Amino acid sequence: MTGPGASFDAIALGTDIQRRLGVKTSRDEPLARFTTMRVGGPADLFATVHNAFELRGLVRFARSRGIPHLVLGRGSNVVISDRGIRGLVIQVRAEGLRVDGVRLIAEAGVQMARAATEAAKAGLAGLEFGLAIPGTVGGAVWANAGAHGQDIASVLESADVLLEDGKELRMAAEELGLAYRESRFKAAPIGAPDAAGVPAPGELVVAAAFRLRPAPVEEIRERQDEIRRWRREHQPVGMASAGSVFRNPVAGPSAGELIDQAGLKGLRVGGAVVSEKHANFIVNDQHGTAADVRHLGERVRAEIERRHGIRLRFEVEFAGDWSGWPWPEEAA
Ligand SMILES: Cc1cc2nc3c(=O)[nH]c(=O)nc-3n(C[C@H](O)[C@H](O)[C@H](O)COP(=O)(O)OP(=O)(O)OC[C@H]3O[C@@H](n4cnc5c(N)ncnc54)[C@H](O)[C@@H]3O)c2cc1C
Repeated sequence: MTGPGASFDAIALGTDIQRRLGVKTSRDEPLARFTTMRVGGPADLFATVHNAFELRGLVRFARSRGIPHLVLGRGSNVVISDRGIRGLVIQVRAEGLRVDGVRLIAEAGVQMARAATEAAKAGLAGLEFGLAIPGTVGGAVWANAGAHGQDIASVLESADVLLEDGKELRMAAEELGLAYRESRFKAAPIGAPDAAGVPAPGELVVAAAFRLRPAPVEEIRERQDEIRRWRREHQPVGMASAGSVFRNPVAGPSAGELIDQAGLKGLRVGGAVVSEKHANFIVNDQHGTAADVRHLGERVRAEIERRHGIRLRFEVEFAGDWSGWPWPEEAA
């Protein structure tokens, strides 16, 4: 194995995966280009799965071998360490989608924007907010993603879940622990090593069924246009980011308002900057590192705590090898 701390033979493993499952793998794959923040070092082993069959097969295979594995959607809510990710990264591109009456059924890798567009075409309302979420259905269920007064919980009927024991079960939305940016999947991250480096089995979304409401196509399109306009006006669209860095506090001003009021827009560490357009976004000017992003996030958090006594919680997930953080050589 090539990566530090890796305990398996990536060449043999890659060959085995190709032979058994027909899924290609690559070694030391730089992950930055698979994330919207455009940061992140290499995955020891990397594979893209193109359908639910490959997804199940590869996850079960990794579990049976005790190989740490992380499932990645569009990488729009993660800040992957510059040191990369030890083990196997599975990029989900299972993109099957169908409409059945008032239901839209999508595999985990379907982009939320596509789900929104297909629902609109079918004259079904409720998924318009998907245009604001540059992630996958799987990642959106994981986060209970939401925007513009809607969220996954408001439209999800059920999800097909790959359980820790490898069985698959259709679970009703009510069983998924959906709350503000919360779900049962966050409670047990997939394949993430625990403190002792042992991979947790976790649970994973294979597909989701949304129950929508028939509505005139024109009405749905108007709502979508509004959402697009709002995003262009209020978010640094087109710049590398991972969306909102912090969750909003339970009461009082939003995280963005607190950061704005503290005069932190424009604050910079290396190539990471607090967006001038939306204070709860950190953007990467293309030269930033994951360490820059994290240092800046922590600096913002410390300043808000100093001023208001409020400790903001990160909404973005710091994924991969952050062991020993803060790294002495990187200290800002
Ligand atoms: C410009 C921008 C705007 C954004 N605006 C919003 C917004 O308005 N509202 C909002 O809620 N979010 C927003 N986000 C954040 C992000 O898009 C969502 O959290 C999204 O749901 C993440 O999906 P993903 O596929 O990119 O997940 P990833 O970032 O790839 O993964 C995030 C986590 O989900 C897990 N995961 C991925 N797929 C699965 C699966 N199939 N089963 C179980 N776990 C899985 C991963 O292991 C990882 O832990 C924004 C992001 C950006 C960049």
